Amino acid sequence: MAREWRERMVEELQLKEYVFDLPMSKITSFRVGGPADLVVEAATHEELATVIEYCRREEIPWLLVARGTNLLVRDGGIRGVVVRLGRGFQEIKVWENNLLAGAGVALSRLAEAAAVAGLSGLEFASGIPGSVGGAVFMNAGAYGGEIGQLITGASLYQPGAGFIRRTREELGFAYRRSRLQDEGEILLDAQFLLIPGEEAEIRAKMAELNRRRKEKQPLEFPSAGSIFKRPPGAFAGRLIEAAGLKGVRIGDAQVAEKHAGFIINRGQATAREILSLINRVKEEVYQKSGILLETEVRVVGEEKEE
Ligand SMILES: Cc1cc2nc3c(=O)[nH]c(=O)nc-3n(C[C@H](O)[C@H](O)[C@H](O)COP(=O)(O)OP(=O)(O)OC[C@H]3O[C@@H](n4cnc5c(N)ncnc54)[C@H](O)[C@@H]3O)c2cc1C
Repeated sequence: MAREWRERMVEELQLKEYVFDLPMSKITSFRVGGPADLVVEAATHEELATVIEYCRREEIPWLLVARGTNLLVRDGGIRGVVVRLGRGFQEIKVWENNLLAGAGVALSRLAEAAAVAGLSGLEFASGIPGSVGGAVFMNAGAYGGEIGQLITGASLYQPGAGFIRRTREELGFAYRRSRLQDEGEILLDAQFLLIPGEEAEIRAKMAELNRRRKEKQPLEFPSAGSIFKRPPGAFAGRLIEAAGLKGVRIGDAQVAEKHAGFIINRGQATAREILSLINRVKEEVYQKSGILLETEVRVVGEEKEE
């Protein structure tokens, strides 16, 4: 695709915060992925709507990338626009037992704000490295908690239609799923209902969960967290270990020694290596256990032409 559209878009929309050819390895926790044609940061809800509607009209593909902790971007990068959320998506408001958070708020900051307000329920989320938007999209969860359980409603932008509100029921939460995955709607902010608690107890619980995380997870290497969803009645990590795959490597991609449910980047891994390793794990686990693993991580972008 000829790429003069980029200059035209920047000029017509008078964009201020943008980058051409940004390697996606710089904005994803896996530290892999080729360049994105154009990365645009939307500072406000209106700017976001303008960018999305421009892309729709001009038939330019777009992808929202938040903290990039659940994404595996292929080595050829991303054609079209990567949209990021700027300062207008960072607000946190607390009243009574409610908390409202902008889509760009980091989950660690959200959990901290709840602790300060003496509100319990979000302790499980304090160590998940994503944002509110990514967490709602994925219905992120850990240690028995899930983000969708705490949400009462949300504001979204529906491409082609405008700003809307949805209730929890309408957001269609299920294990690592939400309606956002099907509809292309963008979360602007979400409202949480928590329960009153003691700040010290909330902090102690967060510290304990984060200690367990550090002990069990290979946080010293780039990754995207658990690479596979939990199959019904089983644990992906245990199946992978039972198939003898712990520590197996393809290039710089490795099934983590510390936790077989993680694939880590030992330094210079490519998306191709990581994807080959994912396929090998899927095949061998299937042969050994009859269970077909499904990736939790979202694979996006183009393959690199050789
Ligand atoms: C070390 C490590 C540990 C992890 N532990 C956990 C864990 O315990 N539990 C868990 O569930 N996950 C875990 N994860 C995965 C990841 O952090 C979560 O899935 C997180 O919710 C992703 O948020 P993000 O902001 O990084 O989203 P991104 O990776 O940027 O995006 C993920 C998807 O969400 C979409 N998206 C992002 N923001 C919006 C928005 N505002 N509106 C619409 N769509 C949006 C994107 O388009 C993309 O498709 C872990 C990851 C790492 C690296």
